Parts: sequence; C-alpha cells; structure tokens
Amino acid sequence: MLSYPAPRSRDISVSHLPVTDLKITCLTRGSIVCNGINCMLNALNIIGGMGIGNRRKYGLAILAFFVCLFLGSFGGWAQSNRSPKVIATFLPVYLFAKAVAGQNAGVEILISPGSEVHEYQAKPADVQAIATADILGKNDLGLEEFLSQLISSAGNQKLKQIDASQGIQTLEDGNPHVWLDPVLAQKQVANIRDGLSAANQANASTYKANAEAYIKQLQALHQEFESRLTPLKGCTFIAFHDAYPYLAKRYGLQQVAVVELPEDSMTPGDISRVMETAKRFKVKFLMAEPGADSQRLQQLATDLGLSVRSLDPLEQGDLDPQYYFKAMRQNLQTLEAACR
Ligand SMILES: [Zn+2]
Repeated sequence: MLSYPAPRSRDISVSHLPVTDLKITCLTRGSIVCNGINCMLNALNIIGGMGIGNRRKYGLAILAFFVCLFLGSFGGWAQSNRSPKVIATFLPVYLFAKAVAGQNAGVEILISPGSEVHEYQAKPADVQAIATADILGKNDLGLEEFLSQLISSAGNQKLKQIDASQGIQTLEDGNPHVWLDPVLAQKQVANIRDGLSAANQANASTYKANAEAYIKQLQALHQEFESRLTPLKGCTFIAFHDAYPYLAKRYGLQQVAVVELPEDSMTPGDISRVMETAKRFKVKFLMAEPGADSQRLQQLATDLGLSVRSLDPLEQGDLDPQYYFKAMRQNLQTLEAACR
C-alpha cells in the first residue's frame, strides 16, 4: 500500500531584513496565521521605534510588514492549495484517479491489489485511511456496499466523494462493471477529473490535461476493440463472474449466462447447468479469469468440447495507470482468438 506524503513544512526566513527576530516558521495553517500576526506586531513595533532619518530601515520594515500581512491573511489559502489526499476504493478507480492526478495529488488505494472487491472485509487501517483523506473516489453502482459503514466509522466531516459512475446508464440489473467498457471508462475518467478539479481548483488545468491524454488513449483502445471485434459479432460465451456485460454489449458479443460455481468442488448439478447452457446458446468458450481454478474449468470444458479463456476484470493488478491498457489489450487478443 502506498503511504501519504509527509506534511510539508515551510521555513520562511526574512533574514536579509535589519530585524533579527523576524523569522516566520510555518508548519501548519494555525501557526502560519499566528506567526503572521506576531510578525506584523513585531514589524509595527520596529517601525514605531525608528528614527525618522533611517529611511532604508524604515522601508524594509514596511516591506516586512506587508510580507507578514500576506502570510497572516493568506496562510489558509496557501494551505488549501496543497495537493489533496485521495483514496480510491479499488483498482480501476485508483488507476483513473492516478492518471488524472499525476503528481498533483497523493492517491492511495483502499482495497490493495491481491484482495477481491467482492469479498472485501474492512480493517481498522482502512477506517484510518478514510479519516485522513480529503477525497474518496468510488465506482459506486452498489459495488462498494461496505463504504457507508466505513465512512461513518471514519467520521471525516470534510471528506469529499467522487462517484466515478455518475451519469452512466447501467444495464437493467444495475451491474457495476462499467470500467471494462473503454467508452464508459472515459466517462469515469471525466467524472474523476471534475471531482478533483472541484476539490482542488489550483490544479484543475493539470487534471484537465492529464484526463485529456488518458481519454485519448481510451478512445484509441475503443477503436482497436471495435475494428478487431466487429467481424466477430455474435460470439457467445459463458462467464463465471458477471463482469463483462458492458464490454460484450459495446462490441456485439454475448455473455449469455453467468454460472456461479462453488469454491470447493463442482456438483453434478453445476456441471449439467453449464452443459445445458453451452448447448442452448452454442457458446464458443468458457470465460475464466486470472486466479480461477483453471484445472476444474479445463476439465469441464474438455467434457463439453469447448476451450477455456481467461479475461482480466481489472479488479486486481498493477498500480501503474498504464496497466488498464496492457490488461485490456490482452483481453482483446484473448477475445479475438476465442471468437474466431
Ligand atoms: Zn466483479
């Protein structure tokens, strides 16, 4: 898990002035305001105690007064322009937020790669992470059911939330796996850009430029999917994780059934369900995913005379924003090979 950058401290010394005690140490918003006021009082005392003929010192002291006035009055502004701390619930939201934020926000992931979003169990450290964040990025659409409890435990009154799926029309069943459609992913990136910009306007132009570059990559990816899968329209598959209906719909494929398999071993009932569905829809392949018990599925596929393919739902993986493209291009290659 990534850690937040340590709070920055600023040590502003006005040592060139003829005033030896005019040193402002700014560690927090509170101290910058207090030190600014103290500093102003110092400067006023100095001006008051000067001889009329000492114009150079007088001028410098006035300069010191205005420097201090600025720091005292606008310390809060300076503080509010620091990079926000963003926590993204799981991998796709993290990748998009990281791509948009670049270096202008500390982005952390709540559900670390290696843990499964559908089986997530909150830990005390997660409550702490939300308690200290400025912004929470989430997929929503019912995927992160644990969030409301977690947020209420964190008691972070200033927490802003970005719903990455805002404005996305879901399928009838409200399936949350919208990030696997490169077109809907663009909307998610735009939502994250807007949310970050609203919370941190000072960096809005950077967020805009970063989002634009990432969206361009998503558009190129969409073109690739479209041109390579159009000749394979109607290709039909059975999935074991209901992750691909948006991807399938976008490119004319058909995820005809989702067969929930038990963790341990398949019963004769499970096998007959898969066989029945495979025959009914004339499926081309069974869709497994990385980490699935491929031996069991392989046996089942062999019995059915089908192949097993593996698609990455991007719920786990690398924390590099480019991982999205790497995994999706791999998925495209897999679909192309399976549907031929
Ligand atoms: Zn899923």
